Amino acid sequence: MTTPNTFIVRVPDIGEAEQVEVAELLAAPGERVAVEQSLLVIESDKASMEIPSPVAGVLQSFAVAEGDAIREGSELCTIQLDEAGVDETVATSDKAKRSEAAPGKAASPATGPAAAEQATSVAATAGATAPGPLLVLGGGPGGYSAAFRAADLGLEVVLVERYPRLGGVCLNVGCIPSKALLHMAAVLEEARALGGSGVEFSKPDFDWTRIRARKDEVVGTLTKGLAGLARARKVRVVTGHGRFTGSHELEVQTEDVAQRIAFGQAILATGSRPAALPGWPDDPRILDSTTALEIEGPPGRLLVVGGGIIGLEMATVYLAFGWQVTVVELLDRLVPGADRDLVKPLEKRLRAACEGVRLEVAVAKLDTRGKQIVARFEGEAAPEALPFDRVLLAVGRRPNSEDIGLDALGVQTDAQGFVPVDAQLRSNQPHIFAIGDLTGAPLLAHRATHQGKVAAEVAAGGKRRFEPTAIPSVAYTDPEIAWVGVTEEDAAQQGIEFRKALFPWSASGRAIGIGRTEGLSKLLFAEDDGRLIGAGIVGPHAGELIAEPALAIELGADAEDIGLTIHAHPTLSETVALAAE
Ligand code: NAD
Repeated sequence: MTTPNTFIVRVPDIGEAEQVEVAELLAAPGERVAVEQSLLVIESDKASMEIPSPVAGVLQSFAVAEGDAIREGSELCTIQLDEAGVDETVATSDKAKRSEAAPGKAASPATGPAAAEQATSVAATAGATAPGPLLVLGGGPGGYSAAFRAADLGLEVVLVERYPRLGGVCLNVGCIPSKALLHMAAVLEEARALGGSGVEFSKPDFDWTRIRARKDEVVGTLTKGLAGLARARKVRVVTGHGRFTGSHELEVQTEDVAQRIAFGQAILATGSRPAALPGWPDDPRILDSTTALEIEGPPGRLLVVGGGIIGLEMATVYLAFGWQVTVVELLDRLVPGADRDLVKPLEKRLRAACEGVRLEVAVAKLDTRGKQIVARFEGEAAPEALPFDRVLLAVGRRPNSEDIGLDALGVQTDAQGFVPVDAQLRSNQPHIFAIGDLTGAPLLAHRATHQGKVAAEVAAGGKRRFEPTAIPSVAYTDPEIAWVGVTEEDAAQQGIEFRKALFPWSASGRAIGIGRTEGLSKLLFAEDDGRLIGAGIVGPHAGELIAEPALAIELGADAEDIGLTIHAHPTLSETVALAAE
């Protein structure tokens, strides 16, 4: 029974699921619970969701037990309200951390009795300010790293994220799910390659639902972990779209209500989104890096527009799952940014596996009227018009700097919308920091996490600067390409004199053993003092192998340091030492 001083928490909108199961109770009757503290976890066969408390108070009782099957609107527990409980309440419909709702898909508003109860509480908060000395806008790798570090340093932290799950693009719809699919692709490819060695596997069967579920499981494990880490550090997570309304105020718009948060300092970590091409038709068969992860069958013909990292990683996945892939790239090369000698083995393999790899070609028109999308091309090497079942657009990313009220903050952007920052990651407004993709190239999650920690430390009064000597880049293609520090092309442009050491994998026992002799390890040493200034590796596991040269660059190692370090034999890591020797 509800009294004026009690609040019943109910199962929120659970999408298409008819019923869900109580997986875990996270609080105990008698325990004092804070606003947004997770009370329990519910799960369906597809996803799990933490239910946060919409109010502050004492948990009186649970109406459910672990293992119970429950429906939308079912009573979960009763909370005896603190006096301030209702005032602190914010809309709960958005705050349930739904594991199945990926970024790009907002959670549906709560309906039924729970919504009515929430609406009452929400009315009390509209227009209220929630002071928090450090505000972090954006819960991707940069934002959550900044929030966690700041909380560890003793700051009170409010982390505002528009989607119900932390982790941003990288964790939810980028690096992590794509790597789950790329792992499957690598195993498929290795099994196929064994054919010539006397071990034959039968043709693989694909269960697309289970393939996608496996990917979602990997993501779910990590997002759940993040929610726990935020809780443990008492980082207040607010779900909703944040827009600055003043130099020290952010308005967060949830589906039901706007709340205002006052802050002392803020870290902007809103990331980036896929770039669109003007005039392209709106058709679900035209994929971006997010929708391309929802791979389904039967395999058909895929056009990949853009021969950068995203386009080629997804081409690698789709090829392994039996799709016929064509890649078109505007420039005269694939993976711009990596030296051409490193890209060559990948290009050779792609040319053998793809229907076509067309350089200096653009898509002039896409006709989506028929069963297949007909693409017309332009450029000297342009093919005739071709039909495709799917088209993936991967032509770069744009910063999420519009629609967050940067004007109200007085924060400036450059011509492309990126926020320029100094070495302490401060924008032109000293109390506003910016990190990650929002601050420009390279758009890499690991750069964002390091920037996030530095910004948090500076915000906490530390004298830190973000001045890495080298940031590794990895294309998780087959073969992988990884590079760190100065590339040969950078050196030529910047007039840096260097000496180059190459070790072709055709001379590596391990590479011969795994049948991948196309690899190459390359080291660049400064002409003047012999220090390692850059490295590039192409071949399986290049993304793992690049860590050693990255450390060597940071430590100022020279060829002797690397060559005299004993590497295990036979390993692919030896190729780095042998190049140095
Ligand atoms: P990208 O800039 O790496 O590649 C886009 C490619 O599209 C370029 O080669 C460009 O010349 C080409 N292009 C542009 N317009 C075109 C057109 N009209 N027709 C044909 N080609 C066209 O961008 P991306 O692959 O979309 O990746 C975006 C960012 O995300 C990159 O900065 C990348 O570093 C980062 N990212 C990194 C990883 C990783 O670390 N493994 C993975 C994914 C993305």
